Amino acid sequence: MMKRVAYSASLVVLVTTFILCTSQCCKPCDENAKTPVVTPSNNGSFIAKFIEPKSPQNKEILDAVKKDVEKVIALLNERLALPHDISVIFSDDPKGPLYSPGVLTGFSVAGEKGRLIAFPYEFVEHIGDVLVFGGFEGKELNEAVVDSTLFALVHEMSHALIDVFELPVLGRDEDAADSGSAIFLTSLEDGAQIVHNAVQFWRLRGQALDLHDLSFADEHGLDTQRAYNLVCWIYGRSVTKNAFLEHELPTSRRARCPMEYSQLARSWDKVLKEHLRKKL
Ligand SMILES: [Zn+2]
Repeated sequence: MMKRVAYSASLVVLVTTFILCTSQCCKPCDENAKTPVVTPSNNGSFIAKFIEPKSPQNKEILDAVKKDVEKVIALLNERLALPHDISVIFSDDPKGPLYSPGVLTGFSVAGEKGRLIAFPYEFVEHIGDVLVFGGFEGKELNEAVVDSTLFALVHEMSHALIDVFELPVLGRDEDAADSGSAIFLTSLEDGAQIVHNAVQFWRLRGQALDLHDLSFADEHGLDTQRAYNLVCWIYGRSVTKNAFLEHELPTSRRARCPMEYSQLARSWDKVLKEHLRKKL
């Protein structure tokens, strides 16, 4: 169960472009970019930790996602100087995926008491189950599982960035985390496909959802809404490159997508530029 994310020298440039400058504001952003002085107080990184699984099934999951998870985390670490390290822990513990800004009560991984991201192997399995339910199989299934895992991971990392940098969130926190993940991942070389595979997962989950009144009380948007948002943002990033998504959006929403993407990308660019590890 393995896939690649094609990382190359040009990709680093591409990711760089995401953080500091969107296609909408590249020149002004470059001109305004500041290089923070990296000191012990802002020299932290996301630290990937993979706790040895107990079951053969979870071992297989670990083998499937480890390489791509490490690469995505490394790409974020290249750009961002966190005030301290944040552990990203894949484990058998069923809690998560979540970002914990403090002590995570009842977390079974010993010695982890600070801010952390908990990501259960169980959730990767859940992604696989949902995609199988939707008819995915073979190589497509494997790729979609890895990509949906990456989307959920960067969603949690976006929560972490919002917390440690005390970023303004003008709207629903969960939508902001989705946008952070979509904007970062779509800046990768094959990012549109990565996020579109995550769309398949959220769309299928939405189809299986038994809606009731309390479904609308959740802090997250409905799964189907999240899927539509992601399609819109992928399409909005490049309506020519990603024209294959036209049929997945109603005309009324499609017309808004370039503006939505630009607004989100500009916002992330603006709030993160003070926290870059190195000048671009
Ligand atoms: Zn979230």
